[in-house]
Amino acid sequence: MNTKEILNLDIKSIWHPCTQMKDHEKLPIVPIKSGKGVYLYDFEGKSYIDCVSSWWVNLFGHSNDYINSKLKEQIDTLEHVILAGFTHQGIVELSTRLIGLTPKGLDKCFYADNGSSAVEVALKMSYHAHLLDGKKRFKFLSLSNSYHGETIGALSVGSVELYKKTYNPILIECITTPVPKNDEEVDFALTKLKEVLDQEGENISAFILEPLIQCAGGMHIYSSVYIKKAVQMCQERDIYVIFDEIAVGFGRSGSLFAYEQCDVVPDFLCLSKGITAGYMPLSVVMMRDQIYQKFYAPYEEQKAFLHSHSYTGNALACACANATLDIFENQNIIEKNKKLSEYIVSVMKNLNEFDFVANIRHKGMVFAFDLIGFLPDRRVGLEVFEAGLKLGILLRPLGNTIYFMPPYVIEHHHIDYIFDSLKTILKQIKY
Ligand SMILES: *Cc1c(COP(=O)(O)O)cnc(C)c1O
Repeated sequence: MNTKEILNLDIKSIWHPCTQMKDHEKLPIVPIKSGKGVYLYDFEGKSYIDCVSSWWVNLFGHSNDYINSKLKEQIDTLEHVILAGFTHQGIVELSTRLIGLTPKGLDKCFYADNGSSAVEVALKMSYHAHLLDGKKRFKFLSLSNSYHGETIGALSVGSVELYKKTYNPILIECITTPVPKNDEEVDFALTKLKEVLDQEGENISAFILEPLIQCAGGMHIYSSVYIKKAVQMCQERDIYVIFDEIAVGFGRSGSLFAYEQCDVVPDFLCLSKGITAGYMPLSVVMMRDQIYQKFYAPYEEQKAFLHSHSYTGNALACACANATLDIFENQNIIEKNKKLSEYIVSVMKNLNEFDFVANIRHKGMVFAFDLIGFLPDRRVGLEVFEAGLKLGILLRPLGNTIYFMPPYVIEHHHIDYIFDSLKTILKQIKY
């Protein structure tokens, strides 16, 4: 097929995610033929540097030789088996490794096949665990500006209005407490949290948060001091704490997991996205053994956690996840990323020269800045996106926040090219 054929068939048959399809009357969809390393290639051979890791999932480049080989091995052995009543080597290895990599308190793995489903699992399980203790706690607490996915439960605990507004009448009950906007607001946010806990604490099953970086909420980086104290306040009141590390896990935050920088252990840890380095859908919820033990009883409907997805713990996905952990182990990725991150920061700083570039920020392997001072209905982020494509860089801004969240295999010359291109683009932008 050539570009034209693909685009014609695409627009006839596909409703793309998170997209106003009418936008594509003017802005063509980009058909991708192949990928290698940080590059994606279209059907005309034009390359695009994947600056967003294909929606934050890719870690070690497209078509990574090592992961490919592990996936091919697995495909000739076992592609999938039902996980209820059955198991396989890949998932046993993966679970043992994840438990080994995380502290005591994250002792068991429950699998699903995407991030939102992991959030659903954690929400349902935390509610159910209280129920088994004879407590009906039917509310959840989350932070303002948070994002936890787009299924009904996950959407309910999120608070990015853009995704939520339309569905508000059909969502489950949830309380929002303010995330600190900056370090000066930590005390204020903790006071607000205390107020909510004093009033509603007894009704709350769980507090869910994205530690350190609210990614979909405009790459908002916030204080580990707040997180540590907030977690303690909730755990003191028997409110379970769910860390949604779906986006920040696997090195994005600068450590393998973000909780490491917060000096706390959550009761539930949700992981997905980077878990297979961008290869296959997989997610896992890790939790305390005490929670598992509450459900460990002779069969009774009320005591079993009757939750499953058809592709739960898929063997191909587990092979990719194990290969991903191999790379972390063998290539000292976290340390290497520190140097890479320093370089990116040094280059990104040069964007200071533009009056309309504000809040240049980073944490680990997440980099962002905002375009400010434009008329409210101007989609300047979209303008940057379009101009980026022309220059062979795939940026997908969040509104007027431009972010850079590259695969960890990105090299200095790519980074130079990206930020030179960004400068060219920003120079052409007029107020
Ligand atoms: C992407 C994301 C989710 C949802 O994961 P999906 O696989 O897209 O359902 C949940 N929480 C956070 C923080 C995310 O970034």
